[in-house]
Amino acid sequence: MTEEAFDVMVVGSCMTVLVSQAPRLPKAGETIHGHKFFIGFGGKGANQCIQAARLGAKTAMVCKVGKDFFGDNYIQNFKDNSVYTGFVEQASNAATGAASIIVNDAGENAIVIVAGANMLLCSEDLQKALPAIKRTKVLVCQLEISPQMSLMALRMAKENNVKTIFNPAPAFPDIDPDFFKVSDVFCCNETEAELLTGSSVTNVEEAHGAAQELLKRGCTSVVITLGPQGCVVHQAQQSAPKHVPTAAVPAVDTTGAGDSFIGALAFYMTHYPTLPLEEMAQRANQVAAVSVQAIGTQTSFPFKQDLPAALF
Ligand code: AMP
Repeated sequence: MTEEAFDVMVVGSCMTVLVSQAPRLPKAGETIHGHKFFIGFGGKGANQCIQAARLGAKTAMVCKVGKDFFGDNYIQNFKDNSVYTGFVEQASNAATGAASIIVNDAGENAIVIVAGANMLLCSEDLQKALPAIKRTKVLVCQLEISPQMSLMALRMAKENNVKTIFNPAPAFPDIDPDFFKVSDVFCCNETEAELLTGSSVTNVEEAHGAAQELLKRGCTSVVITLGPQGCVVHQAQQSAPKHVPTAAVPAVDTTGAGDSFIGALAFYMTHYPTLPLEEMAQRANQVAAVSVQAIGTQTSFPFKQDLPAALF
């Protein structure tokens, strides 16, 4: 039990990412030699939490890992990033979520994700975190844990006047319509916007249309990220969506850029709550742009001291 009040709480996923680089992808039944192996920390929830923490937000993660080596390691990773771990439970009946990735020399990949302990995060875990959820400034959820648990966490936040960010990722078309009602900021990328609206979202104009459609479903505001084109922001009190452009940079690895953006947005919502949402999105664009210029997911997320003072 903690009496602490957090800026940002994330209810979501943790994944250990195991990457093998090999000349080609193996065929069924085949064993081949690769030339490089590394282990990384991932999972959308954890990524977003760690980005918010690196910018200076006081954060807590609510998640489930396995009672195994990867789970122990992930908890240490949270501690190393100053994320509170009192709501990180270790399940003895499932492994820590894992993504096994094989990348060939052409840059193609084959990936197996096993959500494992992430799917065991349950209402008892949320009840345990409820006193802290009531006191947090912003709650952030995605769809890499059981969707009912994400919805329950967002409802708990709304019932206690806590601001919410919902990132419907990975998206599926028929998400519970209540997700929109409990989202202050509904933030997704082009692919997710396309899946949710059933319309093509490949440019700024189409993103405007998708943002209008998503806003109608009951959220307070919509943000659609557009890679090097920044994002589109639409708010219930505004007549039209606004494009928030960014300075495109040459991308080395865009994995986790959306998570860096959302973690940054959560930070700005807590530390600069009076800024207009477009201004927060413009600053989050700049944070995420740094993350695409280095390899890896969390390894590429900037710290406050790496960023221009004008962002703070
Ligand atoms: P995405 O998930 O691809 O939409 O990217 C999330 C965010 O990362 C975007 O809204 C941008 O702020 C940033 N971003 C991604 N790619 C680039 C890029 N090449 N140059 C600048 N910013 C980028």
